[in-house]
Amino acid sequence: MLFSNINYFSTESGQIHCGYVQVLNEKIVYVGEKKPKIHENEEIYDGTDKLLLPGFINTHCHAPMTLLRSIGADLPLQRWLHEKIFPIEKKLTESYSYTGTMLGIAELLRSGVTSFSDMYVLGKSRCDAVLESGINANICMGIVCFDDKNFQEAPFVQDTIDMIKEYHNTNHGQLQIDVGIHAEYTSTPNVVRGAAELAFDNKCNVQLHLCETQQEVEACHMRHHKSPVQYFSELGIFKNNTTAAHCVYLTENDLELLSAHQVSVAHCPMSNLKLGSGIADIVKMQAHNINVTIGTDGTASNDNLNYIEDMKLAALLQKGYHKDPSVIPASTLLKMATCHGAVAQGRTNTGKICQGFDADLVVIDFNSINLQPQTEPLTEMIYAALPSDVALTMVRGKILYQNGQFPTIDIEKILFDAKKIGETLYPLKNRISL
Ligand SMILES: [Zn+2]
Repeated sequence: MLFSNINYFSTESGQIHCGYVQVLNEKIVYVGEKKPKIHENEEIYDGTDKLLLPGFINTHCHAPMTLLRSIGADLPLQRWLHEKIFPIEKKLTESYSYTGTMLGIAELLRSGVTSFSDMYVLGKSRCDAVLESGINANICMGIVCFDDKNFQEAPFVQDTIDMIKEYHNTNHGQLQIDVGIHAEYTSTPNVVRGAAELAFDNKCNVQLHLCETQQEVEACHMRHHKSPVQYFSELGIFKNNTTAAHCVYLTENDLELLSAHQVSVAHCPMSNLKLGSGIADIVKMQAHNINVTIGTDGTASNDNLNYIEDMKLAALLQKGYHKDPSVIPASTLLKMATCHGAVAQGRTNTGKICQGFDADLVVIDFNSINLQPQTEPLTEMIYAALPSDVALTMVRGKILYQNGQFPTIDIEKILFDAKKIGETLYPLKNRISL
């Protein structure tokens, strides 16, 4: 496919250029101002009034939680988890998880996401949904441990080992299996050490929740006499390429540790606000050369997977928090959403519109009401665009979403099944009483 006469965002220059981007099979084979040689039967995509971007990379998600959308509103994190989330999660099956993941993937593709990092309690169904849909993903289980079990006996360790054997690096890395540690407050030092070794031995990335609430940090000090960052650092987890979600409460020492170990942060502004967790100072993180990326978190705390909305909120929060409109300009934010996300996921072949990179791309249509008149496309992209302006989402050269259609997902069936599951999990009388 040739994207012809199209505006495209360069992560290298941080600016928009106009020209041609050619895709052959899975790869971007040409980027430039001059029209390249057209291959036989090549599709020409008219780039008039369109903006081509590297696909967005959502570095923290729980896709099957689409089935728990919006439950437990107005509760703080610990009560939200124990009173609302965990009881419903006990009822989930692999079949439910498959439907929830597919629903989540459709929602992600619709807002221009081409890759996501996902932690949850069911694994196989998520991997199958990723492979069937064609989206890139880093999938992990959230390993937990509440007693002095050996690493091998801790919940979700064997699942992680099995998934690494069966799925790690499937389809040339389309699907990667990461090692997930749910959080400090749901782990033991023994299990964290084991997870660090498991990831290291299998060349896996690590995903975890970190310093999400003040209560979490205070409780960690009571238990271990150190911050959660120090806890994980001393147990060796950061020798692996790690993405830490949230990081709302960091000390100067924590910032230095994260920077020294090149830990990426998945900033989840919508979730942090909805759960009343606080505001993460990502400007300060970036000043410490920490790789800050954007995550949606799950739909029980967001409550959608509209990645564009999270980008906008990430910028607005910092401008308000620092009382400085110059922080986090649109070009910085788009890099956080693309090439920086790729670094977090340990992917070296995506996140940029460059020759030789995977064709993981999103097209924004600037003909819509909310994008007129065209003034400053990068700024409009962050502050004015909606998922309905996503005209096309392509992963590895294959169109996975275009003009409301999902070529690889039977969206009618997924919507039907999701509705049925909802009726089972949330009986009508409860829904009315809400
Ligand atoms: Zn999370």
